[in-house]
Amino acid sequence: PLPALAIVGRPNVGKSTLVNRIIGRREAVVQDKPGVTRDRVSYEAEWAGRRFKVVDTGGWEQDVLGLDASVAAQAEYAIETADAVVFVVDSTVGATDTDEAVVKLLRRSGKPVVLCANKVDGQSGEADATALWSLGLGQPHPVSSLHGRGTGDMLDAVLEAL
Ligand code: GDP
Ligand code: MG
Repeated sequence: PLPALAIVGRPNVGKSTLVNRIIGRREAVVQDKPGVTRDRVSYEAEWAGRRFKVVDTGGWEQDVLGLDASVAAQAEYAIETADAVVFVVDSTVGATDTDEAVVKLLRRSGKPVVLCANKVDGQSGEADATALWSLGLGQPHPVSSLHGRGTGDMLDAVLEAL
């Protein structure tokens, strides 16, 4: 079986947009409204000649559990079944309490984590990415999933983690 890369993070940080970038197609459903990810969440991807599975998350965001518990539950399941994880943070917002809760799960899992500082659409956003060193997950990779900026460098790090 192909190695599995899970994409986790809060609603609306750009997980599905990043998945579309990685797979080079528009299959993961992106919405301005948080919480929209359709049921089929696993896609085949390739980078630098290596194939892997990329798993989008977020389909249960409107669950009765409430936001924090729902994000945590999805992240926990995705992390468990993955070989490596991309943790996506909205760098324009910064780290929230929900993000910190996911960081705890990631630490406990012992799985390799690549930190994606998303929505760095231009040079002026780089400082926001740098601030995410505070999460203690190592280097934040500045990325614009919307425009493709920085995704190649991040995927190079992903291949080292997978
Ligand atoms: P998800 O809920 O984490 O899957 O987030 P989505 O991929 O559905 O994206 C939520 C919103 O953020 C959409 O309006 C996207 O267009 C927007 N978005 C995603 N990535 C970026 C980015 O790199 N830059 C900017 N400016 N917006 C982004
Ligand atoms: Mg989504």
